[in-house]
Amino acid sequence: MPEWTEERIDSLRFMWSEGLSASEIATRLGGLTRNAVIGKVHRLKLHNRVCVAKEIQAKTPQVKVAKVPKVTKAVSVAKVVVRPAPRAASTAASRPDLPDMMGSVLKPVPLLKTLVDLTKGDCRWPVEGERAETRFCCHAVSQGSPYCEYHRLASKGPGTKSERVAARELRRAA
Ligand SMILES: [Zn+2]
Repeated sequence: MPEWTEERIDSLRFMWSEGLSASEIATRLGGLTRNAVIGKVHRLKLHNRVCVAKEIQAKTPQVKVAKVPKVTKAVSVAKVVVRPAPRAASTAASRPDLPDMMGSVLKPVPLLKTLVDLTKGDCRWPVEGERAETRFCCHAVSQGSPYCEYHRLASKGPGTKSERVAARELRRAA
C-alpha cells in the first residue's frame, strides 16, 4: 500500500472535487484500489463533493463585475426630462405667431376641432393643419364675429385681411 503523501492527498482532493470516480482516482494515483481511495476520502471527510468544490471556489479570487451605479441612470433620465422639447414642426409651420395678449384679452388655448365638428358659436380661427385636417380655435365667438374675442382682434390687425392671407400663402410655399 503506497503512502498517502501530501502531494497524493492534494491530487486526491482535486480529482474528487472534479467529480472523478474513486476507481478513476485510484488508477491515476497508481498502486491503489478503489476501496483505498474511498477509505481515504472518508477519512479526509471529502464525501460531500459540493463542499469541496465550494472550498476550492472560495480560494479562487472572484472577479466582481462592477455594477453601473443607479445614480448614473437617474441622472441621465433627469437630463432627458430637463432638455427642452423641440418645437413641433406642425406648430412652427402653422399660423402666424400671435402675441399672447391682444389688448387685455388672453390668447385662448385652442380646442382644435375639425371643420365638421365646428358648431355655430365656435371660433373659426384656423390654428393648425390644412384643408380637411385644419383644426380650429373653437372658443365661444365674440358678438357679431366668426371668431372669439382674441381672434376677432387678431383678425383685424396687423395689416389687412388680404395681406395676412398673402403672408400665409408665402409661408405655405416656403
Ligand atoms: Zn378663437
